[in-house]
Amino acid sequence: MHDTPARPSRQKDTPPESPLHLTPRTPASPALGRRDLITRAAAIAGGAALIGAADLARPRPARAVTAPRVYTRAEWDARPPTSPATIIKAPDHLIVHHMAFPNSTDYSLAHAFQLSRDCQDLHMDDNGWSDTGQQLTISRGGFVMEGRNRTLEAIGQRKNVFGAQCANENGHTLGVENEGTYTTELPPAALWDSLVQTLAWLCDLYGLSASTAIVGHRDYNSTTQCPGDALYAQLPRLRSEVAAQLGAAAPAARTAAVRRSGLPGPRTLGDHGPAVGAADPRP
Ligand SMILES: [Zn+2]
Repeated sequence: MHDTPARPSRQKDTPPESPLHLTPRTPASPALGRRDLITRAAAIAGGAALIGAADLARPRPARAVTAPRVYTRAEWDARPPTSPATIIKAPDHLIVHHMAFPNSTDYSLAHAFQLSRDCQDLHMDDNGWSDTGQQLTISRGGFVMEGRNRTLEAIGQRKNVFGAQCANENGHTLGVENEGTYTTELPPAALWDSLVQTLAWLCDLYGLSASTAIVGHRDYNSTTQCPGDALYAQLPRLRSEVAAQLGAAAPAARTAAVRRSGLPGPRTLGDHGPAVGAADPRP
């Protein structure tokens, strides 16, 4: 495990005022195994097919996407950044990561908040960054949290912040880090459902297509298997489920068989591949 230095009391981050009117989501569902995940996914796909058939009979109205409840930095007790994040243009791609943290079976909100603090400590104290690198974090219990400072402010303006999550691509991408390591295991259903909802919200907000905008870290940085071979193989299903939430024609949800990519997996806690490159400013 990664040892973080003892910190007597965490200095509070800026106040929690969120620019967004976020709709509280239902409490995270209990974690389910892989078979449950697949069964649920199949049920969702079946439902989407029925809705699709009904929609053929009339013009399709814009479907409202429910925003996830995003816990603010103040709520998870973030440290202030050593320098404020820069707000940049809207992202054109949404990057799915695994955090290369343990696959914890603690699905509580308290654990989710601790996860965000641990990740921030790693990024600031070990990597020497000004703040946590990714824009959003999702725990295995399905709790969605703001990552880098000013992220919710930027999203509220349909913009983005300069993050540190995908080397040389930080100027045009938004990163979602998912708790766990998915080289062989799949995320629990609670995380999966929140990831679908979060990506649908972002695609809707930024006017992005689920079929082209959602990518894995390895699609840009070929020296990592992030988000893990197992989760990467599920990206077609992820795009399909997000498209269904958006009311768009869902691409075929065929997933690749989980196989070893031969790409490097995590070597240390939190190592999910290059997050900063020569083309990026100091994070
Ligand atoms: Zn990654």
